[in-house]
Amino acid sequence: MKYQTLLFDVDDTLLDFQATERVALKRLFAFAGVTETPALVAKYKEMNHELWRSFERGERTRDEVIYQRFGMFFESLGKKVDGVALENQYRIFLEEGHDLMPDSREIITDLSQRADLYIVTNGVSQTQYRRLTDAKLLPFFKDVFVSEDTGYQKPMIEYFDYVFDRIPNFAKEQAVIIGDSLTSDIQGGITAGIDTIWLNPQKTTGMIQPTYEIQQLTELYGILGS
Ligand SMILES: [Mg+2]
Repeated sequence: MKYQTLLFDVDDTLLDFQATERVALKRLFAFAGVTETPALVAKYKEMNHELWRSFERGERTRDEVIYQRFGMFFESLGKKVDGVALENQYRIFLEEGHDLMPDSREIITDLSQRADLYIVTNGVSQTQYRRLTDAKLLPFFKDVFVSEDTGYQKPMIEYFDYVFDRIPNFAKEQAVIIGDSLTSDIQGGITAGIDTIWLNPQKTTGMIQPTYEIQQLTELYGILGS
């Protein structure tokens, strides 16, 4: 294999977060007594995306993002809510979802026999472990690095230093990161000095240049060797 150490992002790389989020939001809106519409969901997603971008830039902590987002969102609809309580309920709904990306488990099962697989994810530790376990993916990974546990997040160099320090016999030239986010996965890999594979199913464009770009996970074989 071209690489010995494969670092996988979770959401929208191995697990279909968008599918899980869709269901969880539907349940949360019902829980909050608000009628869900596509426009409201789009509005929430935009606000949430901006908050996570500010987290990546180091402007907000993870807790500030997750405990403020529903308060901010429902307030923008003129509804006063308990943002912390809603977040806690949302986490329960999210944890119950673990939809897989196409071919994800088959490919991970196969690759785990030929390389060392690790999880690199910006997220909430308990949620990510639960979802990876329920999706029957967890046993295929040698270790899991969730930003909440590391104290840093992708794309920060400190996050990658933390990860590299904990991988036995780590060699940068034998490592590659695979993820769907240009700003966290690909930018992080570039900053950390390793090769990058951008999973870009929608064929969007961006300013950050990955080493490789794929539309689906099966294309990994063309890069890694079958
Ligand atoms: Mg992702």
